Amino acid sequence: MLLDRDDLGALGLRLAGSASGSRVNGPGSRFVVWVQGCTLGCKACFNPQTHAPNADVTPTDELARRVLAHRAESSSGLTLSGGEPFEQAVALERLVVDLRRDWPTLNVLVFSGYTLEELRGPRAPRGATELLAVIDLLVDGRYVAADASARPLRASRNQRLWVLGRPVHEPLPAPLEVEVQIGPSGAILVSGFPDARLRRALGELAR
Ligand code: SF4
Repeated sequence: MLLDRDDLGALGLRLAGSASGSRVNGPGSRFVVWVQGCTLGCKACFNPQTHAPNADVTPTDELARRVLAHRAESSSGLTLSGGEPFEQAVALERLVVDLRRDWPTLNVLVFSGYTLEELRGPRAPRGATELLAVIDLLVDGRYVAADASARPLRASRNQRLWVLGRPVHEPLPAPLEVEVQIGPSGAILVSGFPDARLRRALGELAR
C-alpha cells in the first residue's frame, strides 16, 4: 500500500537523526530532531542528505519516549530541524502535544525554510497552522548562501527569529557555533552554524 502524507502523519515521521544535550541548536541545552525530507532546494544547503523523503517511519510515541528519556540533559527544550519540519507538520504537532502531557513547560523551537507568511498563507503545508499554534520559537526562511549571517541561530540574513509562544530566558548560542557529537556507534554528528570555510571542508569530507 502506498502511504500519502496524511497517512504518514497518522503513523509517525521520517527521521534523519536526533541528538540530546545540544548547545548550538537553540537556547540552553536541547533535544534535537532532524526530519528527513525537504522539497525547498536551497542552494548550498548544509544538510543535502536530508532532502530525499526516504527514511523509515518512526512512530511519534516512540520518539516521544526517546525525548523524555533524555530530558535531564536536554532540559531547555526541543528543537525541530531538518530537512523541512513543516513538510511533516501533522506528525510533529502530535509529537509536541504528546510530550507536553509529561513535560508541560517544554519549549519548542523550529527551524523552517518556509517563511512565516508562507506558513500562514493559503499554500501552507498541511498541518502548518496546528504546528505553529504549539511552538514557541521559529527561525524562518530559505538559506541564502550568498547572504550569510553572523546572528545567532540564523544562517543567512533573510532569516528571522520569531517568538510565537512563551519567551525564553536563556541566552541564545553565540553566532557561528558548531558542535561535534560522537554517538555510541562512533558516528560523528556535526551541527550548528559553520562558516563558509568549514562548510566547504565538511563537504569535502562527506565525499
Ligand atoms: S529548507 Fe533547510 S534543509 Fe531544505 S534545502 Fe533549505 S536549508 Fe536545506
